[in-house]
Amino acid sequence: MVDPIMNTYGRLQVGFVKGEGAWLYDTEGNRYLDALAGLGVCALGHAHPKVTKTIADQAGQLMHTSNLYQIPLQQELAENLVRISKMDSVFFANTGAEANECAIKISRLHGNKNSVANPSIVVADGSFHGRTLATLTATGNRKVQAGFEPLVNGFVRAPFNDIDAFRKIGENNTGVIAVLIEAIQGEGGIQIADDQYLKELRDICDQKGWFLILDEVQSGNGRTGEYFAYQHAGILPDIVTTAKGLANGFPIGVCMARGDAATVLQPGNHGSTFGGGPLACAVALSVIETIEKEKLAQRAAQLGDRMLESFRQKLSGSNRIQDIRGKGLMLGIELNIPCAELVQQAKEKGILINVTVDKVVRLLPPLIISDEQADEIIETISDLINAL
Ligand SMILES: *Cc1c(COP(=O)(O)O)cnc(C)c1O
Repeated sequence: MVDPIMNTYGRLQVGFVKGEGAWLYDTEGNRYLDALAGLGVCALGHAHPKVTKTIADQAGQLMHTSNLYQIPLQQELAENLVRISKMDSVFFANTGAEANECAIKISRLHGNKNSVANPSIVVADGSFHGRTLATLTATGNRKVQAGFEPLVNGFVRAPFNDIDAFRKIGENNTGVIAVLIEAIQGEGGIQIADDQYLKELRDICDQKGWFLILDEVQSGNGRTGEYFAYQHAGILPDIVTTAKGLANGFPIGVCMARGDAATVLQPGNHGSTFGGGPLACAVALSVIETIEKEKLAQRAAQLGDRMLESFRQKLSGSNRIQDIRGKGLMLGIELNIPCAELVQQAKEKGILINVTVDKVVRLLPPLIISDEQADEIIETISDLINAL
């Protein structure tokens, strides 16, 4: 018998039926501390009362009309997003990959309108941008691409966080129109771009007339201590995408653009049936309001620093540690051996974590996590690593 669910995921043998804040409850009634928050999605934790109420109220009012009409809540959300990001305008999609597709289409259309032959986008080693054909091509991980050839043309790859290598690509390639990178690579193992690197990227893009596109699908929405991670470097991209934490689990993705990039798309160039519907927008608005009112980005910065420091102390005696790094509540503990088994071991201790690129323990806890809950995560995960 074929499983009625397509076999696209390696899943743990546990299923959850209820959540509350940073806690998840499985089908047997066991309780787990969620240090992953649905892959960085549930920043306000599970079943946040305000989010739940917003969904119920809006579903009782109006759920979908299509983009053939004015959508007041979409307007209101766009105004909030441009205020926070300092971009000029927003396209509404439903996922991170779709948000990035929009950024890629804007860049290509801009290049073609300016008669650039074979417009291409520079992307980084180790990046992750999604699973659609264009975004998996942009992704710097062969495992994501293998078997799906022919890939999409028009991408050039550069090492991450290496400005000299990037400069060379700029000198040796004609047709470049944009650079697409993550300020912090999430799937790639919590690799953090230096502020200086981002500033120099910005300068080169300015000199060359290229769009600087930042994929903040994972690093956005307060997680790193600023609403968007590029704000740490004090730069402004031309295009920013985000999705995961934007509506706490209600599907939404946005592509925001500034200056020339903001006016490239015209009616007929792009669209989405579901994108920017009243329900998704109402939820995102209530999430933004909560993040801002409760100063959750500041909380992420402060707690993240403390967690990093505690991990460094508790793991100082381990010979398994390569590096411990992070920004806000986007944390990575890189080991010098593959450590995928830690996911199962942590689950047995009642903590949900992730291991990415085989060797990096990735923590993306909800931003509302308490000091005590953070301590429990630090204790348990450190003990497990020290026991390896
Ligand atoms: C998760 C992720 C994506 C893809 O988002 P989907 O919603 O799964 O399409 C793209 N970019 C980054 C940086 C991500 O972390």
